[in-house]
Formats: sequence, structure tokens, C-alpha cells
Amino acid sequence: MQDVGHRTGAMEPRDIPVDVLVVGGGPAALCLAAAMASEGLRVAVLAPHDPRAPWPNTYGIWGEEVDALGLAHLLEHRWSNTVSYFGAGDRDPMAPANRPTLHGRDYGLFNKVELQRHWLDLCDLHGVRLLQGTAQQLRLEPPSAETPGGLNVLTTAEGCDHSARLVVDATGHEPLFVRRPDEGPVAGQAAYGVVGRFSAPPVDSGQFVLMDYRCDHLTPEQRQQPPTFLYAMDLGDGRFFVEETSLALAPPVPYDTLKTRLQQRLAHRGIEVLQVEHEEFCLFPMNLPLPDLQQPVLGFGGAASMVHPASGYMVGSLLRRAPLVARAVAAAMADPAAGPAPLAQSGWLALWPVSLRRKHALYQFGLEKLMRFPEAQLRAFFATFFALPNALWYGFLANTLTLPELVGAMVHLFLKAPWGVRWGLMLMQGRELRLGLRLLNPVGTRS
Ligand SMILES: Cc1cc2nc3c(=O)[nH]c(=O)nc-3n(C[C@H](O)[C@H](O)[C@H](O)COP(=O)(O)OP(=O)(O)OC[C@H]3O[C@@H](n4cnc5c(N)ncnc54)[C@H](O)[C@@H]3O)c2cc1C
Repeated sequence: MQDVGHRTGAMEPRDIPVDVLVVGGGPAALCLAAAMASEGLRVAVLAPHDPRAPWPNTYGIWGEEVDALGLAHLLEHRWSNTVSYFGAGDRDPMAPANRPTLHGRDYGLFNKVELQRHWLDLCDLHGVRLLQGTAQQLRLEPPSAETPGGLNVLTTAEGCDHSARLVVDATGHEPLFVRRPDEGPVAGQAAYGVVGRFSAPPVDSGQFVLMDYRCDHLTPEQRQQPPTFLYAMDLGDGRFFVEETSLALAPPVPYDTLKTRLQQRLAHRGIEVLQVEHEEFCLFPMNLPLPDLQQPVLGFGGAASMVHPASGYMVGSLLRRAPLVARAVAAAMADPAAGPAPLAQSGWLALWPVSLRRKHALYQFGLEKLMRFPEAQLRAFFATFFALPNALWYGFLANTLTLPELVGAMVHLFLKAPWGVRWGLMLMQGRELRLGLRLLNPVGTRS
């Protein structure tokens, strides 16, 4: 196994047992490795690539979330002019229904290099070892005098072994080791976007558009198909990012459809793409079931179903939850007899306490509903949602409300919604009822 640690920088094929081996080199792996090491644990990160290699994705977050974490300096862009459109856009664009919904909240994009460096610096400070290799298999070594709880031994595709008291799977949405139940088709958030220059500004100067659901550029047939929206922002210096997005669908909306719709939308407003700097093809699962919380490997990030099922966001959650998980695992490690299973269990329970599992059930129930809503009903739903008190809709999207507050927000929304939306919320179809009942009996309530 190659050690790409910046302190030694040399090949180090020896297996040096650590407390925690984090598998993966994305945001989840680095975030948790930094938090675990900050707790005084001996930590290694294993990825097929150098974990300092740039990530492909850029991550967005609400300003208040990043402020509360004290990490506003990691943002590359920050917008105060944040809006959405929930009118159809046809007929009179100045009609009240077609006016923009003003969010009155900042939104930011991380500087992905700085975010990565932030976690790598913490890893460096606390002596995290960076190892290069592709994880393949995991086995449990029986207890010995030195390791009375047993040890995990991970074998890489390159043929190296690495031992740890706890292995964390942070290999993304299709994890290598973490198991979760099969609950049928998984909905994907799909998007096609372009960073570039345009013949006219696709959004106002200095503006961020969270969701533009206007659909006056679509044919009547297209308006019968699953709705999509524009996510767009002014990046400054005449550059803009425009992305046609499907919130969630199983199977996901194909990229070709999204690209056609984006072109149609721009053309309808008389906008031409002059220069394409970068094309983004985005697809990730929105409603993954919760993992089995009894398994002897801990998960984090996409691997642990941490994507917010109603918004698709995860980075704020990583930053808030990593210290809690790390603290719980460090406390469990204090018992030298604790083996991989109880150590993983301590992490799972800190990551997914019952209250969060109940909220996850509610979010999944809500997403299931939204995926069935036709275009006009969906626009009416979002117009009502963003008319909720600002703190409520924000807390819903950032997953910072308590369970009673979340239930309260949903009741509030139901009472304010037009009848068409209320009816859609009441009608139980497919697996909706089963998902809704999980609020009362969430996965793994035994623990
Ligand atoms: C295009 C896109 C845009 C997104 N935008 C946002 C956003 O704006 N805000 C937000 O909060 N979320 C966003 N998300 C959702 C989510 O935050 C990301 O998917 C995020 O990258 C998930 O992080 P992760 O570390 O769990 O997994 P990944 O980023 O997928 O990282 C997985 C890591 O595991 C490594 N790995 C895989 N197999 C092995 C193996 N066998 N051995 C060792 N290592 C392995 C990979 O090389 C990689 O380093 C976006 C997702 C996508 C796809």
C-alpha cells in the first residue's frame, strides 16, 4: 500500500494498525477523518487517488449554515439576491403569480479547493495518514491479547492489507461495504448545466436563482411530462451557471431531455450560449433507504444515506454531524475490548439517532409525494412552501428543525396550501403510507 502522506511522502508498504480507517477520498471521508483525528484517534484515509486531487463537483450551501459553522471564508461566491419563480411564466410576466419569490437569505458556493484544503490541513495537523489504494475486501481478525475486541483487516485491489479497530465506508452513494435494504427503485436528482458566457444575462446581475419553474417555453405535451426547473447564478465577469434540474425521479430524467429543455428555455428568452466553459452532468440518489444500523462497518456521507431527501444537499450535514460521530466513536474506543461491531454501533447511533431517523422518514414521505405532483400542482406546492415563515422553510431545507418543529412546518404548509395541493398531500399512493408510518416506527427503533 502506498502512503502518500505529506509528512513522509514515501512508499510505506507496512501495515500499521490504526484506530479508524476511512475508505474514500471525497468530502465525507476527509470531513470525518479530520473530526476523528481531532478527537485524538489514530486515523488513516484510503482512496484510489491522491486525496489532494481536485474534486469534480462544486458544492452549494445556505449562507446561514456556513456562518453557523464559522466557515464563511471557504465560500467562493455568496449571493444575497436569491429568488425562485413558481408561476407558469405565460401570459402577463408581471402578474402576481409570475413575480419572483424573494428568499431573503444568502446562498453560497464553496471554493472547492479551499474546502478540501480546510479538511486536509486538519488531517495534517492531527497526523492522519493518507494512503493510496482501492479497497476490495474486509475480514475480521479474531481477538488477540493485543486487540481483545478483534481487528478489521482490509485488503486492497493492489494486494495490501491494512488493519483498524473500525473501518468507515465513505465511498459514496454506492458504497463498497455498507449494506442497506432494497426498497425498490431509487429516485435520482439529475441535472445538466453549463458554465459559460451568453448573448444576454440568463439571470439578473448578482442574482442566484434556486428554482425557476416557469414553463412557458414548453409545449403542452412537454408540460405533461415530469417537471424540471432552472438552477442558475451570476458568477461575475460575464460568466453564468445555468442548470436544468429534475428534483427527483425514478428512473431519473435523461440528460438529453434536460439539455433540450435548457436550450428551449434559453431560446425562449432570446438567449444564446456564446461560450461553454464547462458542462455539468449531475446525478445522485435522493431517497436511499437508511443503512442497516447494526452492521460492523460504519458509513458516512453518501454511503450512509446522508443526502437530504427533499433538497439533495449534504455538505452542511457532514460538517455538523462529523464531530458528533467522532466524539461517540472516541468514547467507545476508550474500552480496549470494544471490537468493530460495538464501535460501529456507537457511530451509527450518533449519526442516525431516532429523532433524525423520524425526520428522514418524513422527508422521504414528502419527496414521494412531490415526485407524483404534476407541473401546476408542484409550482403551487413550492409557492406555498416558500411562503412559510422564513425560519421554517430554511430549517426544513437545512434539516436544522427539531422533529416537533418539522411536523409543525408540515401542518402549517398543509393548512396554507390550495385545495389541489392539499388533496395531493392527503391521497396515499404506492409506498407513501408505508413511508409516512415510519415517522412512528422508524428503521432500527430497537436501538
Ligand atoms: C454533480 C453533483 C453536485 C452536487 N452538488 C451538491 C451541492 O451543491 N451541495 C451539497 O451539499 N451536495 C451536493 N451534491 C450531493 C453530495 O454532496 C455529493 O454527491 C458528494 O460528493 C458526496 O460525497 P461523498 O464523499 O459521500 O462521496 P463522493 O464524493 O462520491 O466520494 C467517494 C470517494 O470514495 C472513493 N472510492 C470509491 N470506491 C473506493 C474504493 N473501492 N476504495 C477506496 N476509495 C473508494 C472515490 O474515489 C471518492 O473519493 C452533489 C452531487 C453531485 C453528483
